[in-house]
Amino acid sequence: MSVYPATIDPPRRPASVLAGKVVTREHARFDEARRAWNLAVDQQPAAVVFPESAEDVVAAVQYARGHGLRIAPQGTGHNAGPLGSLDNTLLLRTDRIRGVHVDAKAWLARVEAGSVWLEVVEAAAQHGLAALAGSSPDVGVVGYTLGGGMSFLSRKYGLCANAVRAIELVTADGRLVRADRDNEPDLFWALRGGGGSFGVVTAIELQLLPIEHAYAGVLFYPIERGSEVLHAWRELTQSDALPDELTTIARFLRLPPIPDIPEELRGKSFVTVDAYHLGDPGEADELLAPLRALGPINDTIATVPVPALSHLHMDPEQPVPAAGDGLMIAELPTRAVDAFVEVAGQNAKFPLVTVELRHLQGALGRPHHSHGALSSIEAQYALFAAGMVPVPELEAPVRAQVHAVKMAMAPWAASHMYLNFAETQHDPARFWTEQAYHRLRRIKRAVDPDDVIRSNHPIPAVG
Ligand SMILES: Cc1cc2nc3c(=O)[nH]c(=O)nc-3n(C[C@H](O)[C@H](O)[C@H](O)COP(=O)(O)OP(=O)(O)OC[C@H]3O[C@@H](n4cnc5c(N)ncnc54)[C@H](O)[C@@H]3O)c2cc1C
Repeated sequence: MSVYPATIDPPRRPASVLAGKVVTREHARFDEARRAWNLAVDQQPAAVVFPESAEDVVAAVQYARGHGLRIAPQGTGHNAGPLGSLDNTLLLRTDRIRGVHVDAKAWLARVEAGSVWLEVVEAAAQHGLAALAGSSPDVGVVGYTLGGGMSFLSRKYGLCANAVRAIELVTADGRLVRADRDNEPDLFWALRGGGGSFGVVTAIELQLLPIEHAYAGVLFYPIERGSEVLHAWRELTQSDALPDELTTIARFLRLPPIPDIPEELRGKSFVTVDAYHLGDPGEADELLAPLRALGPINDTIATVPVPALSHLHMDPEQPVPAAGDGLMIAELPTRAVDAFVEVAGQNAKFPLVTVELRHLQGALGRPHHSHGALSSIEAQYALFAAGMVPVPELEAPVRAQVHAVKMAMAPWAASHMYLNFAETQHDPARFWTEQAYHRLRRIKRAVDPDDVIRSNHPIPAVG
C-alpha cells in the first residue's frame, strides 16, 4: 500500500502564498539565505525562496517564470560546487519542507524534500527498518537519491535510486505530479539516477529494509603503513569469496585539529579501513583477519544499531568549506595501489583531509530492466578526494592536490563518472550509458524545453 494520497490536489492559492518566503538582495538575511552547506561556494542567485509546502513550490515555479528567472532546487548545498553562476536564477531551498512518515507494515518511508538522511534513518530504526543512506547524516535525501545514492548497504541492495517507489514533483510548467511505475513513467525513470534536471521534487517514497544492526567500524593504522594496508585491502576486495554483505572503504584520513573531532583522533593522520557487514560477525571476522593481522592501533568494529552507521565514516555533520572531486575506478591492479599510496599517502605533496577508495560491485554492478536512469555502476571502486578550504588562499593548493590524485589514478579510470561524487563541472554524457543519456535528453526536452529547472549537473534541453 502506498503512503501517498491517491490523488494530488491541484494548487488553489495564487503566488501570494510566497509572501515572506522570498529573500532578495535587499534583505539583511540574504547572505544567510544563499549559504550552501559547502561554505566555500559563493552562491549569488537573483533571490532565494523558502517554500513550506508543495503548493508553495508551484507558486515559486510560477513566480520564477513570471519574472523571467530560472529555478535551482537545493536541499542542503552539499553539491553546490558545480552549479556555477546563478545569474537570473531563483534558488529554491527546500529546508522548510520536512517530514518523514514510515509505513512500518509496507516498509516504506515518505520523505519530504528538505529532509536529511539522519531523519529518515532514525525514523525507520524506530520500526526496526533501515534505508539505503549514504555516509553522511546531513546529506539531503532528495539530492542524493536523484544522483543515484551509494550506501554502505548498496553492495547487497543496490542504489537508493532504484529503491524509490514514487516521487512527487512540480514540473517546469507548474504542475504537481506523482511519478511512479504507473504514472509519468518517463519522469519516474529519469528521476531515478538522472539528477535534478526534471522538476522540483517535493516528496519521495523509499523502500526500506528489515535491518536493525550491522557489524561495522573502522580499523586505524599509522599513515606510514599505507602501502601494506592498501595492498591487504585490495586482496580482500578482489577475493572471489567476498560476499555482497561486506562493504569496505580504504582511505588516507588527516583529521583537522578542531574541537568537533574526538581528542584521541584530533590533528592526527591515519590510513583506515571502514568495514560494514550484514550478517554473522564470525564471517566478517574471517574475511577481515588479514587486515587485523597487520595490527591496527584502533579497531572499532562491533555490532551496532543501524543509525550508528551514519556517523562511522566521520563525515562533517555541519557545514564546512571544502573542495573535492571523485573518479570511478574500473580496475585496481597492484600498480594502481602503489600509485594511490604514492600520491595520497604519507608522502603526499599536500595533505587532503580524505582520499578514499570505496569498494563497489555486488548489486551495484547488476543492471535490471526495472531500474531507472542509473541502472548500475560499471566500476569496481569509487575514488573521492577532498580538502578543507578555511581561507580562500587554500583553494588552489587543495584543488591542485585533488587533481593530482585523479591524474595519478587516471590510467585505471572507468569510462563513466558518478554524479554524486562529481563536485566540479563535467561533461554530463559521462554520467550515464549512451542510451540512457539520449533518453534523458529526450525527456528533458519534453518536460522542460525552456530549461527553467537548473541542476548542478544539467542535462541540456536543446541541441
Ligand atoms: C560529506 C559528504 C558525504 C557524502 N556521502 C555520499 C555517499 O555516501 N553516497 C553518495 O551517493 N553520495 C554521497 N555524497 C554526495 C551527495 O550525495 C551529493 O552531494 C548530493 O548531491 C547531495 O544532495 P543534497 O540535496 O544534500 O545537496 P544539494 O547540493 O542541495 O543538491 C544537489 C543537487 O540535487 C538536486 N536537488 C536537490 N534537491 C532537489 C529537489 N527537491 N528537487 C530537484 N532537484 C533537487 C539539484 O540538482 C541540486 O543541485 C556525499 C557528499 C558529501 C559532501
